[in-house]
Amino acid sequence: MKVLNSLNDLDKFLNSSGEINFVPTMGNLHYGHLKLVTEANKFDGVTLASIYVNPLQFGPNEDLDVYPRTLDQDLMHLEAISCDAVFCPAPDFAKNAIKLSANSALSKKLCGISRPHFFDGVITILNYLFQLVRPTNVFFGLKDYQQYLIVKDFLINSNLNIDIHGVPTQREEDGLAMSSRNNLMSSQQRINAKHLPVILKEIAKRSKYENLADLKIEGIERLEKLNFNVDYFLFCNSTTLEELFKFEPNTLVAIAAKLGNVRLIDNFIIQ
Ligand code: AMP
Repeated sequence: MKVLNSLNDLDKFLNSSGEINFVPTMGNLHYGHLKLVTEANKFDGVTLASIYVNPLQFGPNEDLDVYPRTLDQDLMHLEAISCDAVFCPAPDFAKNAIKLSANSALSKKLCGISRPHFFDGVITILNYLFQLVRPTNVFFGLKDYQQYLIVKDFLINSNLNIDIHGVPTQREEDGLAMSSRNNLMSSQQRINAKHLPVILKEIAKRSKYENLADLKIEGIERLEKLNFNVDYFLFCNSTTLEELFKFEPNTLVAIAAKLGNVRLIDNFIIQ
């Protein structure tokens, strides 16, 4: 596997490669990230991952400084699953990116309310990477469902001609969605965290038959009893992210909640 540390390295690699299947990440790779690479490997061409903790998507009081960085281990994992190359730019890589805004109708909802600059930061860095890499296919996890929709919308409205592929959420044995932030929890927080997907899924299933406003209150109360500080617990249209007050096919049930300083997100779609 080639490790590309500079734009020059990246250019050389791109010039000697055919179609690029691209998996952008912020590192501290777990099985969820690796699943994206495995999916990318199924397509013709070469698989390129990137590891870059993007400062533009962190707010002033967020966890940029403590975000886990485990580059050596990440490279071993990528090599083991036959990733062809990984681009690991320097921490100041973002400084040359042209600042863009994400679709406001999608980015001002859910996570965009408590993290107002988050999706602009995501789109800015992805556009920069996409312009440099010119991939044919890109792979994104459905755990970050809002991000997936916003990137999809960005690609539809760009002339980049890139296909986006959403990969299902990979979970720990107890159901907790895999996340680099899971490592930041205390052991007691980790025990409590396993209830989040259980409660979310149970309520999601009942959403077909019961009053959504009541279910939302119940969900928040059950999580608060487990020390979660709930940012949002919402039933939404899975295309527009508009909040729903009555079940419809493909309802998205989405949550963001903090345990101490660790912010967890998860979602299910009920057909
Ligand atoms: P991150 O490093 O957190 O920016 O994530 C990089 C990519 O991995 C994004 O497309 C995420 O949606 C995806 N990802 C993160 N966790 C998971 C998971 N548990 N299952 C599937 N994809 C994931």
